[in-house]
Amino acid sequence: MTVTQLSPAPTAESDLDALLLAQKKAALADPMPDHASRIRRLDKLHNAILDNRDRMIAACRADFSNRAAAETEMAEIGPVLEGIAYYRKRLKKFMKPQRRHTPLVAMPARVEVHYQPVGVVGIVVPWNFPFFLGLSPLVGAIAAGNRAMIKTSEYAPASGALMQEMLAEIFAEDEITVVTGGVEVATTFTKLPFDHLVFTGSTQVGKIVMRAAAENLTPVTLELGGKSPAIIHPDYPLDEAASRIGFGKGFNAGQICVSPDYVLCPRDKVDAFAAAFTKAMSRSYPSLRDNDDYTAIITDQQKARLESYLSDAEAKGANVIRINPKDEEFTGTRKMPLTIVLGATDEMLVMQEEIFGPILPILPYDTMDAALAYVHERPRPLALYYFDWDKARGDDILARTHSGGVCINDTVMHVGVDDMPFGGIGPSGMGHYHGEEGFRTFSKAKGVLRKGKINATAFVAPPWGNFMYRQLMKMQALRFRKRKID
Ligand code: NAD
Repeated sequence: MTVTQLSPAPTAESDLDALLLAQKKAALADPMPDHASRIRRLDKLHNAILDNRDRMIAACRADFSNRAAAETEMAEIGPVLEGIAYYRKRLKKFMKPQRRHTPLVAMPARVEVHYQPVGVVGIVVPWNFPFFLGLSPLVGAIAAGNRAMIKTSEYAPASGALMQEMLAEIFAEDEITVVTGGVEVATTFTKLPFDHLVFTGSTQVGKIVMRAAAENLTPVTLELGGKSPAIIHPDYPLDEAASRIGFGKGFNAGQICVSPDYVLCPRDKVDAFAAAFTKAMSRSYPSLRDNDDYTAIITDQQKARLESYLSDAEAKGANVIRINPKDEEFTGTRKMPLTIVLGATDEMLVMQEEIFGPILPILPYDTMDAALAYVHERPRPLALYYFDWDKARGDDILARTHSGGVCINDTVMHVGVDDMPFGGIGPSGMGHYHGEEGFRTFSKAKGVLRKGKINATAFVAPPWGNFMYRQLMKMQALRFRKRKID
């Protein structure tokens, strides 16, 4: 296989146009890659990840200044390998055309749905999981038989450069290619007439991207953000809630789209929960500054943004509790302690903006209806977490709330489950990938009606009012008009 990379890395508009054109031409020349060739591509990716495992961990560490190796293993490497294994097992079944019902009027004919690769998929990646959020959509796109262009995040340059190198080694440029660069490149990239565009990032930029895609009528999958609530039922043990919510908040220092953004806690239990959370987090992270297990904030600007939420909250009367077990200093580092905010109000930035960092407001509620009303009054979140051992009450919450996904008695783990769709709703996103839904997202479900030598339509065709037409209408009357639905 010849692997050609444009040199220097493509960033200019004409370079990106040329890349897309080359991919589209290649897709036309090989419009329906068979099962074996899709698996071969997935296997190459699998092997490249294994070969580059340590470099991926090092690249994430470099980008974040410190990223826990276990977090890169658990959230960047493991889930992509799992995704590949998932499709390896099920792809043949997904690719099969589906036989569908032939209505009377179309008989005799065979009706099928064919799942065809859409062509070239564009993938825009944020910085928080710089490998997973590029490679996971890529796995779905490859499984569905597509080519793909990936645009990495300017805020995770080491990871972006490594992903570019890894993929250039195993794929031809007209097969899969990685583009690096900042907002300018991203803007040009998202204006390209892809056959499908997956954007993962903020709700604000998601709107810009959808507008750009609309010019080409490119279908989009928008994986956005928002404020994901965690609701604790009054009967739920607080220590359990604290350690389960703490896992999702401490992981990647809260820089996860599905990190629990705030907690809704029974009013009389707020202080006890704050104490339980402090204890749980001090156990997980007994020190912070030089503790490799605790991830730093990606950039100084992001740290300043998070600090500004805290100073704003403090200035407006909130009680800000920094969980700093060794009483360490963090100036000169991008580390930031897990911080509880009590008494947060709607006037504070911390309740207006997605937090996306290690800050946890704990809000009191008086009744479950009031807690749900609080959630309903706000944009539909990407995730919702509910803590309760009672299944019936859990089912009631599921029925009464909208969110991209849900964990009952857990946080964030649903993202790593391959056999269910992942995606937001409304302001937290649209469309899905992962699992079967991912395969379908990156495929055109093409309806195919295949007729044989007998053309029954000829007997019913105009001039209308002929014998066969009248018989057909009689049959239709029998089927529907005489059987009114009560
Ligand atoms: P971002 O929206 O700032 O950037 C994401 C990507 O968009 C980057 O590659 C960037 O280069 C590109 N971009 C920036 N401006 C653009 C423009 N004007 N036109 C086109 N592209 C542009 O997001 P971020 O700061 O990298 O990531 C954080 C956000 O991503 C949070 O809101 C988080 O919730 C969300 N997120 C969502 C998911 C999910 O799966 N739903 C996963 C991770 C992060």
